[in-house]
Amino acid sequence: MQRLDTVHGAFLTNALSPRSVVSKTAWVALLLAISTAARWLLDRYLTGEIPFFLYLPAILVIAAYCGQAAGFSALAGALLLTVYLWIPPTPDGWLINPAALLSLLVWSGISSLLIVVIGLLQKYAFAQRELLARLSEKSRRLEENAARLQASESQLAAHADDLERLVAERTAKLQETVAELESFSYTVSHDLRSPLRTMQGFAHLLIEDYGDRLDAQGCDYLARIDRAAQRLDMMIHDVLSYSSLGRAPIVPEPVDLDVVLDEVLDQYPLIRDTQPPLQVDRPLLPVFAAKGSLMQALSNLLQNAVKFVAPGTAPSVHVWTDRRGDRVRLHVTDRGIGISAAELAQIFKPFHRGRNSSAYAGTGMGLAIARRAIERQGGLLGVTSELGQGSDFWIELPAVDHSQSSHVS
Ligand code: ADP
Repeated sequence: MQRLDTVHGAFLTNALSPRSVVSKTAWVALLLAISTAARWLLDRYLTGEIPFFLYLPAILVIAAYCGQAAGFSALAGALLLTVYLWIPPTPDGWLINPAALLSLLVWSGISSLLIVVIGLLQKYAFAQRELLARLSEKSRRLEENAARLQASESQLAAHADDLERLVAERTAKLQETVAELESFSYTVSHDLRSPLRTMQGFAHLLIEDYGDRLDAQGCDYLARIDRAAQRLDMMIHDVLSYSSLGRAPIVPEPVDLDVVLDEVLDQYPLIRDTQPPLQVDRPLLPVFAAKGSLMQALSNLLQNAVKFVAPGTAPSVHVWTDRRGDRVRLHVTDRGIGISAAELAQIFKPFHRGRNSSAYAGTGMGLAIARRAIERQGGLLGVTSELGQGSDFWIELPAVDHSQSSHVS
């Protein structure tokens, strides 16, 4: 329900600023009549006064409330009334004497100016009111939007919290499952080894004790059993290395790659003694790494580099480092049999062996182990290669800056 004072206020506003031509004319007529009556009542006291003067307030009030057009109409009416009612005609028959005409002209000029100024002020006030209304509308919308934004932000925060909790729960479960799987594969691999060793042992005993009673084919079968058992043993060994990598704690430290390479070469004399010898660009740049895992990866790359060469060809291996921003790449480059582009993405998968590698011993786990050893410590392991031209395997790890290089081991 509308309040009474609001209704009253609206009525007053409408009455004071009439819109229709009829009501405006009524206002003009009413105010001019009141001014004329006032002039008539005061006539005897207004001897030296300018006759038009008393109409001026009425004209200004009309201009303010009924608009410029009504103001000018009131001015015209006031001029006519002044000429006919309050300025006596001249003795020689003229309607108005020149002095009175001049005064009227001046006053109509002032009145017109005031009507125009009032009109401009009203326009300005109206524009300001419009602007204020638009501004307050905009600020209202802004406030609404801000409230909506705040609501969505708190919803989003709640969702993010839920999501984080969910991710943490799932990650924990996943880690648990992976750990279980790893310990399972470790146990199975470990347990597989003892019956395998027994089989190998009995195969040897059979050859030693009953070899003379077996014919050539029997001996060949036994030798094959022995080779298969050895291969299975190697595979189990590699699976154990692969799964133990997942459990080994990673403690990166500044590492001197020259020292790491020398230790690997001491462990693998076959690599150290290749002819021509390994070409090493010393000093190799130091890196930030977990030394044990890095040695394992590097030894696997070096073993492959000296192994995968065409029959009758000597291995040619080059070890070098280069700086890539805040990281260092350790390259093991060979001129061996190379890898076809189609196989490049496959060779890092566990147990994958290249199509042209059946003539070389191996289990297909070397690169999988190397990649896992490097990626677990935040590094990268990659390769560029061309079939028949050789390969460039690289390990990328954080570089050691000058402040850390004094602690390099
Ligand atoms: P393995 O050496 O036991 O075969 P790896 O995991 O070490 O297993 O290597 C996977 C495959 O990648 C190899 O079978 C071979 O085809 C290819 N490969 C790895 N290193 C080289 C290399 N230096 N040159 C050519 N081929 C390579």
